[in-house]
Amino acid sequence: MNVFPNLIGGQWLEGGSVNPNINPSNLDDVIGQYAQADAAQAHSAIAAARAAFPAWALSGIQQRFDILDKAGSEILARKEELGALLSREEGKTLPEGIGEVARAGQIFKFFAGEVLRLSGDKLPSVRPGIDVEVTREPVGVIGLITPWNFPIAIPAWKIAPALAYGNCVVFKPAELVPGSAWALADILHRAGVPAGVFNLVMGRGSVVGDVMVRHRDVSAISFTGSVGTGRAIAALAAERLAKVQLEMGGKNPLVVLDDADLSVAVNCAVQGAYFSTGQRCTASSRFIVTSGIHDRFVQGVKERLAALKVDDALLEGTDIGPVVDASQLDQDLRYIEIGKSEDAELVFGGELLQRRTRGHFLSPALFTGATAGMRISREEIFGPVASVQRVADYEEALAVANDTEFGLSSGVVTTSLKHASHFKRHAQAGMVMVNAPTAGVDYHVPFGGRKGSSLGPREQGRYAAEFYTTVKTTYIAA
Ligand code: NAP
Repeated sequence: MNVFPNLIGGQWLEGGSVNPNINPSNLDDVIGQYAQADAAQAHSAIAAARAAFPAWALSGIQQRFDILDKAGSEILARKEELGALLSREEGKTLPEGIGEVARAGQIFKFFAGEVLRLSGDKLPSVRPGIDVEVTREPVGVIGLITPWNFPIAIPAWKIAPALAYGNCVVFKPAELVPGSAWALADILHRAGVPAGVFNLVMGRGSVVGDVMVRHRDVSAISFTGSVGTGRAIAALAAERLAKVQLEMGGKNPLVVLDDADLSVAVNCAVQGAYFSTGQRCTASSRFIVTSGIHDRFVQGVKERLAALKVDDALLEGTDIGPVVDASQLDQDLRYIEIGKSEDAELVFGGELLQRRTRGHFLSPALFTGATAGMRISREEIFGPVASVQRVADYEEALAVANDTEFGLSSGVVTTSLKHASHFKRHAQAGMVMVNAPTAGVDYHVPFGGRKGSSLGPREQGRYAAEFYTTVKTTYIAA
C-alpha cells in the first residue's frame, strides 16, 4: 500500500514512520497508510513557511483569490467522493460527510471573496497636517492544530483565512483523520499555493504539535480540541508571547419550557445531542426541562431514538454512525457507568451494538433524573450521551443552563417571546439558539464561545481577520 506523504516546502515527503487510517465502522478496513512526521520534519516545515512568508505576505490579491476560489471549486465538485472518504475515516453518516465537505468548499469561496474585500481606514488626525491610516497585515507563520471530529471543515475554516490574509501555514491534523487533511493539502498544492506557503505535517500531537507550539518562528497558533491540550498550548504560547486562539469543549444546554412545541423540542434534542454520534463541540448534552412538559419530552425523545438506525456510516439509511475509536468508546461507556453510579436513570440505550462489520457501535443513551452537581452534567463526554434535568420554571432553567464552566452554544425551545428574548440576552454562551438545535451553524458569521470553551478572537466570517491579521496605524505628515 502506498504511503500518503507530508507536504513540506512544496515537496511530498515520507516520514520516519506511518500511521494506518482505520475505518471505525469496519476495523478490518485500512483506508491508507499516512506518513508520520518527526520533530525534524516539523522544524523543516516551519523553516519553509518562514522563508516563503515575505513574498506571500506581499502577493497580489488576484493570485490569492484565484488559489482559494479554485480550491473551493474543486472541493465542491468532489463533495460526494471526499464526503465518502470523510465518513469512512471519521464515522459520521454519508450525508453528514458530504455536507461537511460542501461546507469546506463554501468556506474557501467565502475567504476568496474576503481577499478582494481587504480594506482599511483613512482618517483625519487630531493634529493639523497629518493623515492617519489603519491597515491590516498578515501575522506571519501560523500553526494550525485541529481535532478529529470535523476532519475537513475545521481545517478549512483555519487554512482559508490564514492564506487569504497573507500568512503561511503549518497544518497538523488529528492523527485519527489524516485522509481528509491529505486530500485538502493535495487540492491546495494543485490549486497553485507556492512552495512553503502551505505545509502539511501529519504526526503526533506530542511531537509535531509540540514543536509548532514552542517554535519562535511560529507567530500564532490556532487550536481546536480538548480543554486539557488547549490549556497546555496556551501556557506554552504565553511564555513566548505568541498569539493564540483556542476552541475547546462544551457542555451545551438545551432548555425546554412548558410552552414549547413538543415536536420542535424533540427534534432539537435528538438532532443536537445524537447526530454525528454526539461528537460535536456544539452538541447538546444537557436537556433542562420544566416539569409541565418533562414526561412528554422524555417519551418523545425515547420514541425518536428507538426509530434511529445505528450502523455503518456509509450505509444508506444510517442515522448514527460509529464512535470514532476505541478510546472514545471507552470514555462514553465509562461516563454511562458514572451516570448510573450517580443515581441518574438510564432510560434508553447506552449499549454496545453488533453489526455486520466490526465497528465501535453504541446506541444513543438518555439519562433522566440528572442533577446539576453530577459529573454527567458537568463534564464533556463527547459521545451520543445526554441527560435530562427537571426544573421548576424558566428562572431555574436559565440558572442551571449557565451553571457550567463552558460557554459555547446554548439553546431554548419556547413559544414565549418574553422567555426567548430574556434567554438570548442572559445565556452565557458564544452562540444562542432559539427553537433550533445547539449544533448547526453558518460559515459567514462568527463561531466561538465564552468561559472555558474558547480563548482569543472568534473564528469564521469577517471576524476571522482579528486573529489572522495584525493592525498597523500609520501617521503621514503632509
Ligand atoms: P485533542 O486530543 O485535544 O487533540 C486536538 C489536536 O491537538 C490533535 O491534532 C492532537 O494531535 C493535538 N495535540 C495533542 N497533544 C498536543 C500537544 N501536546 N501539543 C500540540 N498539539 C497536541 O482533541 P480531540 O480529541 O482531537 O478533539 C475532541 C475535542 O475537541 C473535544 O473536547 C471537542 O469539544 C473539541 N472541539 C471543539 C470545537 C470548538 O470549536 N470549540 C470544535 C470541535 C471539537 P493528535 O491527534 O496527534 O493527538
